[in-house]
Amino acid sequence: MINFQYARASDVSDAVRQIAADPEAKFIAGGTNLLDLMKEDVERPTRLIDISGLPLKTVEETKDGGLRIGALVPNSDLAWHPKIEQRYPLLSSAILAGASAQLRNMASTGGNLLQRTRCYYFYDTATPCNKREPGSGCSAIDGVNRMHAILGTSDFCIAVHPSDMCVALAALEAKVHVVGPSGERVIAFADFHRLPGYTPHRDSDLNSDEIITAVELPAQGFATNYSYLKIRDRLSYAFALVSVAAALEFDGDSIKDARLTLGGVAHKPWRDPAAEAALLSNAKGFAHNTFKIDLARRAIVRALTQAANGTPQSQSSKKIR
Ligand SMILES: Cc1cc2nc3c(=O)[nH]c(=O)nc-3n(C[C@H](O)[C@H](O)[C@H](O)COP(=O)(O)OP(=O)(O)OC[C@H]3O[C@@H](n4cnc5c(N)ncnc54)[C@H](O)[C@@H]3O)c2cc1C
Ligand code: SF4
Repeated sequence: MINFQYARASDVSDAVRQIAADPEAKFIAGGTNLLDLMKEDVERPTRLIDISGLPLKTVEETKDGGLRIGALVPNSDLAWHPKIEQRYPLLSSAILAGASAQLRNMASTGGNLLQRTRCYYFYDTATPCNKREPGSGCSAIDGVNRMHAILGTSDFCIAVHPSDMCVALAALEAKVHVVGPSGERVIAFADFHRLPGYTPHRDSDLNSDEIITAVELPAQGFATNYSYLKIRDRLSYAFALVSVAAALEFDGDSIKDARLTLGGVAHKPWRDPAAEAALLSNAKGFAHNTFKIDLARRAIVRALTQAANGTPQSQSSKKIR
């Protein structure tokens, strides 16, 4: 472990003031990702600014009929919140498909958005990794890449974003509220996470001196016809090989609105309004993950069928509080 200073933020303005004053500082919320990365010597902040005491733990109605979720609402509380379960069960299912009950109790909404990739080489400081050390190379492209991306890759990085919750938030067209030294701004979820391009060390469009304060859900929740389908090596406590958030709204027998987002296949939740075939027409497999292209196609069909039938998957995990 490296030596670091520890400070608590007294309010959002104080948090922004502290992070803007020290480019080597990091916020800590639940700590479930950041502390692991510090123990592995991947993240080396000189100062931790603890934001866990800030008043960002409520779920409130918005004037547009949606919900505003505070950045510090724990993943468990969010998944089991009555308004989320009733109006946004897709989000509830996706959260409960991730991690373990203990981790979900600690993990925060904002921290989930900013969790880092699970690429093995990113965690292994003995290997080159452009995301960890820009310009050093990518060990995964010609290495073991079974868990890696098939869409939106670059010659610099083929990592995937590991979150389940974010796949549902992308499908629901959430918005991210952030505050920085020049005030508040709102980022559409589709624009929040980045593709790797030449700069894979940047996961999102959040600036280093900004804090996430809330995630806003629009009124449309797709509460009747939805499915979060997560395909993984083990039934629990494993990251997605491929996941699909499917949400449909019917007008009689016709589909009025459809949302389809993939997880486990790209550097960000992969949202594309095109149909299934077109969705994966640009997919590119690497030595160990070409199977993901077929797996993703089949998972899409299954998730859409489940959504249309109103028989969502991932309910089994709901038994574990
Ligand atoms: C063993 C294990 C298995 C897991 N399995 C899954 C899984 O299957 N699916 C899944 O989705 N997730 C999984 N996770 C990830 C887990 O969901 C994340 O670690 C968690 O959501 C991160 O939240 P946190 O509050 O602990 O973040 P922290 O670790 O505190 O912070 C993470 C990052 O976010 C930054 N940050 C936190 N809050 C804010 C904020 N409000 N504004 C700006 N920056 C902020 C921190 O500076 C840090 O860089 C797993 C984690 C572990 C350890
Ligand atoms: S895929 Fe990305 S995170 Fe993994 S080794 Fe390559 S550059 Fe690093």
